[in-house]
Amino acid sequence: MIQPNNQTGLHISILASGSTGNAIYVESEKTKLLVDCGLPGKKIHELFNQIDRSPDDLDAILVTHEHADHIKGVGVLSRRHDLDIYANEKTWDAMAPKIGKIAKEHQNHFQRGQLKTIGDIDILSFGVSHDAADPQFYAFQKDNERFVILTDTGYVSDQMRHELKNADAYLMESNHDVQMLRMGPYPWHLKQRILGDKGHLSNEESSLAMAEMIGDRTKRIYLGHLSQKNNMKSVARSTVEDILLQKETGVNEKFFLYDTDPDEAQPLFKL
Ligand SMILES: [Zn+2]
Ligand SMILES: [Zn+2]
Repeated sequence: MIQPNNQTGLHISILASGSTGNAIYVESEKTKLLVDCGLPGKKIHELFNQIDRSPDDLDAILVTHEHADHIKGVGVLSRRHDLDIYANEKTWDAMAPKIGKIAKEHQNHFQRGQLKTIGDIDILSFGVSHDAADPQFYAFQKDNERFVILTDTGYVSDQMRHELKNADAYLMESNHDVQMLRMGPYPWHLKQRILGDKGHLSNEESSLAMAEMIGDRTKRIYLGHLSQKNNMKSVARSTVEDILLQKETGVNEKFFLYDTDPDEAQPLFKL
């Protein structure tokens, strides 16, 4: 008799998420990937330790865009562990001066809208609306299971809502509470930037997009990229929960909300 194989499918961990630094881990039995590394080398090792994994086992780093909270540790990690880096052409141009020397054979292109297979994981890249050179995020698929990462976007287009429907898990941006941002310490131009079409999703905007994307496969949604000054875990969660309840989505019954943290890895989760 064939034994069921517990190793199939995808495992994920949000190692760090927030405006201070982002790193997300995705693995199958054969392939280990990191999305972004916006933390110093030492910190990223600590986070890998927390989930009993090591950056030594990584196959590649996928970069979403060149903002410091996504690339701070990319160069160091690639050099130290001999890792391939994937990003689209404009992101490469913008990040190259910031991450130090990367060997030619580790520089790979992953264009917006492309479907690529790395090891045994299929990955779709999709563009977002954000004030970087050519920002894109990624959807991972294996054995019919799907994990979508969507942060750093000013809005969620109809095309994105459609393309990213019914994933097993999402990491969704829940960047700010609009009231906290308006009343908060940021200078006016920065507030305008965050609230604008190329900024970040508020708790409300995020919930409305989620309500349209989730489907019967969806099991969990991680609330990510919280602003340290303009949001709190409790505020993000209650705002999102209220809207998803109003929209009769089955929140807390069919699927659940999870926090993320800028300093602490979320336990590995099997989709
Ligand atoms: Zn950004
Ligand atoms: Zn960011």
